[in-house]
This record gives sequence, structure tokens and C-alpha cells, in this order.
Amino acid sequence: MDLLMAEQKITELRSQLNQYGYEYYVLDQPSVSDAEYDRLMQELLELEEKFPELKTPDSPSVRVGGAVLDVFEKVEHRTPMLSLGNAFNEQDLKDFDRRIRQAVGEDFSYVCELKIDGLAVSLRYEDGLFIQGATRGDGTIGEDITANLKTIQSIPLRLRENVSLEVRGEAYMPKRSFEALNEKRAERGEELFANPRNAAAGSLRQLDPKIAASRKLDVFLYGIGNVGESGVVSHSEGLDYLDQLGFKTNKERRKCATIDEVIEYVNSWVEKRPHLPYEIDGIVIKVNSLEQQAELGTTAKSPRWAIAYKFPAEEVVTTLLDIELSIGRTGVVTPTAILAPVKVAGTTVQRASLHNEDLIREKDIKIGDQVVVKKAGDIIPEVVNVLADQRTGNEVDFHMPTHCPECESDLVRLEGEVALRCINPKCPAQIREGLIHFVSRNAMNIDGLGEKVISQLFAEKLISDVADIYKLTQEQLLALERMGEKSVSNLLKAIETSKGNSLEKLLFGLGIRHVGAKAAKTLAQVFGLMNKLADASKEELIAINEIGDKMADSIVAYFDQEEAKELLEELAAVGVNLEYKGTKPVSAEESDSIFAGKTVVLTGKLEQLSRNEAKEKIEALGGNVAGSVSKKTHLVIAGEDAGSKLTKAQELGIEVWDEEKLLEELNK
Ligand code: NAD
Repeated sequence: MDLLMAEQKITELRSQLNQYGYEYYVLDQPSVSDAEYDRLMQELLELEEKFPELKTPDSPSVRVGGAVLDVFEKVEHRTPMLSLGNAFNEQDLKDFDRRIRQAVGEDFSYVCELKIDGLAVSLRYEDGLFIQGATRGDGTIGEDITANLKTIQSIPLRLRENVSLEVRGEAYMPKRSFEALNEKRAERGEELFANPRNAAAGSLRQLDPKIAASRKLDVFLYGIGNVGESGVVSHSEGLDYLDQLGFKTNKERRKCATIDEVIEYVNSWVEKRPHLPYEIDGIVIKVNSLEQQAELGTTAKSPRWAIAYKFPAEEVVTTLLDIELSIGRTGVVTPTAILAPVKVAGTTVQRASLHNEDLIREKDIKIGDQVVVKKAGDIIPEVVNVLADQRTGNEVDFHMPTHCPECESDLVRLEGEVALRCINPKCPAQIREGLIHFVSRNAMNIDGLGEKVISQLFAEKLISDVADIYKLTQEQLLALERMGEKSVSNLLKAIETSKGNSLEKLLFGLGIRHVGAKAAKTLAQVFGLMNKLADASKEELIAINEIGDKMADSIVAYFDQEEAKELLEELAAVGVNLEYKGTKPVSAEESDSIFAGKTVVLTGKLEQLSRNEAKEKIEALGGNVAGSVSKKTHLVIAGEDAGSKLTKAQELGIEVWDEEKLLEELNK
């Protein structure tokens, strides 16, 4: 490549990277994958290396992060918050190691940490008190997001020692919070967040801290801005010191003596990564000694004593062959992408849910498109985006049908929902899906009765409701495709065994709207018998802590149906158990404890008991532990750093105990 061509390419890369950087850092809405961004950045770095005369001080290759929004107060970082250099393979790590050895000799060690995929935050404490929190911004100036950071429970408002210091860490959104958030947004027809990082960044840059509070964020601290007089001489001691002060640090860190040990650690996380409850995008490797860190120094963009190993891209490109429709148990019609089979993170992917028509429009997906596919949380395949510049003109627009593809009834869009639904209760697709749900693991758990067998039985009209499953004969099953004597005999045994399941499994299996596995368990515990539940009034139902208005209505409506009554009779006739068999929590009347019949809320950090232990103990004494403070709350137990729940309790004049008092009463 000659200078002129290089210049052209560099200009093009810079403009692309600036645009992508803006979307990512400022809008929290990336339009390309991180891997694609990293690839372009790598290309730019290589060209700038080859043609140093083309380097400029404003190139995205030398800039940290993004712009600072005007809506927040600006905060100047006392020590700059830098980015990290990247390593993409073993060779890059070995080159890094060589550079370190050349600079400091052979006597040094590393600390490896998980690279949490969130956003960097800086927290300032004066005399042990949290006074200010900021984003990284452009590395020198960040945004003051103190109010939002205060909603993160694991950020101590007061430290265990009265020290003044600035600490750095990563605020992130756990995978579960992310999934729940996107699910809710999908239901409300709101735009989905691309990944937990953008969701976390978007949440912390909200003007209303209530929104941030509702987003269930968390934080890991990984560094001290200035160690001052703490006596800390290495990074690992710094992390231990953070622990000692009451900060949350990540416990998966490891000291490594050699780069080979580092590589082993890195490789071990490639497999373990999907099982973490939060996203990581790599491993950060740091020289341990602070003196050696100082000796190595920093470039304008990143420290020379650290590097981020980025996991290989788990996003792949494939062709979207078609869009199929499937109808769920509740009648929701979901478009599903049929993909040219492609391997992603270890398994072959051929289908990915597209959720609803809005999402298809938003991502501008057409049949025949080249699409980027990844596994969300490394489990569920997802179409990330379309490569629109690779279109040939033969791609076809997709439109949702107006009628149910299975029963031809009109599809409707219920108020406040983005999904289209078939509301015909006799729709065969819904009945079939209901049967599949009935035999699934959390419901009746009938081994050998998977989706395929149920579909066959249903198509052959051998089963039309769940009671029919218990009337199946050996003969009928043997006539099915791919069913030998052995599997039929096993299946019949599994069906027989399922008759003895405790009530909650049957209850969940019936698929009453809004009744999930957890609510089914509570209902079974409280009512004990199916008939008692069937006779319960709405008032009786909502008196139960976990049962809300919507669920109560749905339960009453379900059992009001003549068909439901007949079904229960049929199930009883074939010998299906209708009783709860598990242990019952002590009822308020049976207990003479002070907790009997009281609604208790736990908040803040407990020292001697975990929250779960405390909850179990209170419930065993006839109390009821709730998640939020309301007028119905009788008692609040406030541990260390108790936040808004404590304030609310005080406002409402609710009795508040500390942990000591709780232990005293529990031990009585
Ligand atoms: P980076 O994410 O590569 O690394 C630096 C950051 O790592 C730190 O600021 C800190 O927030 C984080 N980190 C997590 N755990 C850490 C630990 N234990 N110790 C130290 N730091 C830790 O760099 P960056 O400048 O934040 O972002 C650049 C990256 O962002 C790119 O490589 C790309 O993957 C992504 N990006 C994507 C787009 C896009 O459009 N998709 C655009 C811009 C940037």
C-alpha cells in the first residue's frame, strides 16, 4: 500500500471508528459488535505504525473513551482514568511479557483479573465517607453520577476506616437483571439494550436516580487512584486493602509468576466464562509491584504495565434464510429466524427468536440478509444486526400475518403489548404448546415425553388435553414413529410416577396465566389441596404476600371455567395427586414467636447471617419476609449501609431493628 492509499484508508477508518465510538460511549447504543470495532481499530493501529507520518493527536487510536454529556456536572479526575492496551492471542501476551522484562528485568509477577464488561467508575471518599462518583468520560473529565451510584447497594456509603481516597472499579449489570430488563422493555414495546454494558452505562447516565435504582446494578472495585499512606506496595495488596475497607472486589483474581501461568488462567476462563452471573469480555493482566508499575509508566491512552486480553469473538456471520412463525402457549405469535447452520460458542445455531415485528423493523431485517449472530449470555442465539452493505437487492421484506397461521383467527395486539396474539382458546397450536409445558421439567416432569412425541400424539388425536396423557396405552405408543418397546415401557412408567407429584407441579403445569413455578409453590403451600385453591376468592388470594391483583384475577377466572372443573375431575379420576406434599412453613397461628404473622423487610448488610439465613429463620417462626417496605410492613431489619428502604421505614414510622436485636429475638 502506498502513502496515498494508506491515507485514504486511515481517513475512512477514523471516521468509522469515531462514529462507532460516539454511538457506543455517548449514546450507549452501538451499531456494530465489539469484535468488529476492535478489528477496525487494529487495522488503524497497524497502518499508523507503518506510516508514522500519518499519525495525528486526535486519532481514535490515541483517545480514551468518549465525550462528556453536558447534562451532568463535570468532574476532573485527580489521576487520569485510562483505557487498556489489547491482546487478542497468546503471541500478543508473550510480546507484552517481553516488553515488561526488557524494562524491569526478570524479577516481577502478575495479577490476573476478570475484565468485567461494564463501565469504569471512580469513587471518592473523604474521611471514610462516599462523597462523589464519576464516569471515566474522556479519561481526564468525567460526569458526576453520584446520585445514581448511591443506588448500588454494594457501594459502601461509609468505609470501615476513616480514610480519604479515590477508588476505581467497574459498574455492571448482572446477566439476570439484564435479561429481566430487556424482557420488560420488550413487553412495553421499548427499545432493547444491546448488551449488559450498554444497559449499565445507560442506567447510570439517567437523570432520575429512581431509574438507576430499578436497574439492579452492581460493582467490582479493582484499583486505588492514589495509594497515599496506606502502606500498600503491590496491586494485590491494594485489592486486599479494598476488601478490608468494605469494598466489593472480584475474588477470581490470581497471582501468576510467569506469562505461561497467565495464559493458563486466560484459557481456563474461556470455558468457565458462560457460567458467570455477569459478562466478562476478557482478562486484565497487571504487573503486581507498584514500584515497577511506576517505572513502566503510561502512554497517553493506557498504562504500559497492564494489558487486556480480549476473548475471541463469539459473533459470527450467516445468512437469514427465512422467518417462521411459532405460536406459544399463551397465543403469542413469535417470528423466528431460520439461519444457515453456523457454529457459535461451541454449538450449531439454526434458529433465533426475533421476538416481535417491531424488533424486525428496528434491526431492519430482511429475508436473505447476511446477519451477525451471537449467543446472548452465551446460551440463547440472537440476531445482533444486519450487514446492510452486503445486500444484493434480492432480499425480501417480512410482514407479520393478520391471521393465526394455525387456526386462521384474527391476530390481535393487546393494549400495552408489542406482541401479536391469537386469542382463540381452541387454537390447536396453543393446546399443543400447553401440553408440552405440562410435561416439562418444572411442571409434571415426564421423561420421554418431549416436544416431538407430544406433537405426534396431538397430531394423531391421541391426546387433546392433559388428562388424556394418563389414558395412553402401550399399543397407541408403540404405533408412533421411532418408539420401541423399551422406550414405551419407560415412558409409561414416567407417566405413572408423575401422578404422585406434589400439587405445585400440577398447578404450574396447568399453565394458568401469570402463575409461575414460584407462585404455584406458594399457592400449594397455602391451600394444600387443589379444590381449596379452586374455591378461593380473589380476596383470599391477594391476602397472600406474593400474589398480586393480576394473578389473583387470572386464578379465579381459570377455576370459574366449566372446562377447568371437568379437567380436575378427570385428573382425579385417573389417579393424579391433587395435594401438596412438601413441608409447610409454620403458620402465624401455630407460632408463639414475636415474628408470627409479621411482615418483615431485610435491608443493608448483615454481618452474622446471610439474608437467606435470616429469611429462613424468620419464616420458620411464622414471619413473612417481603422485598420492599410498604404500609403493610411491620418490622424492618437494617444492617450496615441500609439505604432507601430504611429511609422509607422511618418515614412510615415502622419499627426498625439492628442485627443484634434480630439475633437476640431469633435466639429466644
Ligand atoms: P477496554 O474496555 O478495552 O479496557 C479498559 C476498561 O476495562 C477500563 O476502563 C475498565 O472499565 C475495564 N475493566 C474491567 N475490568 C477491569 C479490571 N479488572 N481492571 C482494569 N480495568 C478493568 O477499553 P475501553 O477504552 O473502555 O473500550 C474500548 C473497547 O470498547 C473496544 O475495544 C471495544 O471492544 C469497545 N467499543 C465498542 C464499540 C462498538 O461500537 N461496538 C465502540 C467503541 C468501543
